[in-house]
Amino acid sequence: MHRDLIVADAHSDVVLWLEAGLVDLAVHNSEGQTDLPRLRAGGVDVVAFNLWADPIYIPQGRAASRTRHMIDVWRAAIARNHDQIAIARTKTELDRILAAGKIAAIGKIEGSHSLGGHLRAVKAYKQLGVSILGLTWHNTNALADACCDQAKWGGLSAFGARVVREANRWGVIIDTAHASDAAALAAAAVSTKPIICSHTAVRALTAHRRNVSDEVIRAIARTGGVVHIAAINYLLSAAWSAAIDTFHAAHTTELERIREQYKDDWLRRTMALNRFYDEHDYTADVQPLTVERLIDHIDYVVALVGVDHVGIGSDFDGVPHHHFPADLQDYSMFPRITEALVRRGYTWVDIAKIMGGNFVRVFAQATQ
Ligand SMILES: [Zn+2]
Repeated sequence: MHRDLIVADAHSDVVLWLEAGLVDLAVHNSEGQTDLPRLRAGGVDVVAFNLWADPIYIPQGRAASRTRHMIDVWRAAIARNHDQIAIARTKTELDRILAAGKIAAIGKIEGSHSLGGHLRAVKAYKQLGVSILGLTWHNTNALADACCDQAKWGGLSAFGARVVREANRWGVIIDTAHASDAAALAAAAVSTKPIICSHTAVRALTAHRRNVSDEVIRAIARTGGVVHIAAINYLLSAAWSAAIDTFHAAHTTELERIREQYKDDWLRRTMALNRFYDEHDYTADVQPLTVERLIDHIDYVVALVGVDHVGIGSDFDGVPHHHFPADLQDYSMFPRITEALVRRGYTWVDIAKIMGGNFVRVFAQATQ
């Protein structure tokens, strides 16, 4: 059944690993969670690839050039594997790619500091394959307030509103992941096209600032958009969130040393944290999470706004691998999500929407 669905994931961070030369898209890597063999094993048809510029490049005025570099890395990796994967900028291109038996790759930017303050960058990036624009990452920027930074604009700046309209014009989906509630609500109000939150979870179930409130879920649904649930334990479970906070509090000095040592290198920092978590039994006191917990969050969104407004945005390769459910460690395990939805009693039609149909609908509406 899973094989018959169009399965879409709204967020992978593998381009960071590709950029560092640590993984090869073509082979099953021992590092990371995203590569073609595992995407194929998991029956994944559409992947949104994050092309993130670390905010450390902002003070040097290099956020846009760093983004362009990440786009180049991504496009080169896709080109090397053109027999298996291709970039889709429109629904027509997506249909053609899937009909050829390939995986459709969609570019996304996380944090609009990547625009470098230039409205015209929206169109320029779109031409290179970027069809999703995240307002913010963790940092408040010239467009919008972030969830986990100081509020500067009360949501969206005037420039942010112009960028939303520019994105509407050029077939780029606005993404409110990491944005503040006020920014997400403002983007939903300004956008004339459906918007998404590409990797998040439900705040009513886990009181984490990264998670979406009921009000934000309703606002995204009113645009016709989709909330994509991430597979990150600390977003999915309050117990896990608390356990990780407790662990971090008990190891402040060592963790600070790692963060300081790798403060300019997100990937090496993540790998060092992986090793640190490997060496410590940091979740000894909490029940292991499984995919069932991800389905709890899907159930919540379905009950609140209906089955047309929820999808999956794993965030694979975006946080240390310890932070994912035991039975959802990489893309090869994506069929576990479908199986869990079947066990919950969802119909085939509803499962098709959740696993990718909703994402593809928004992509079609935004890009036509
Ligand atoms: Zn993110």
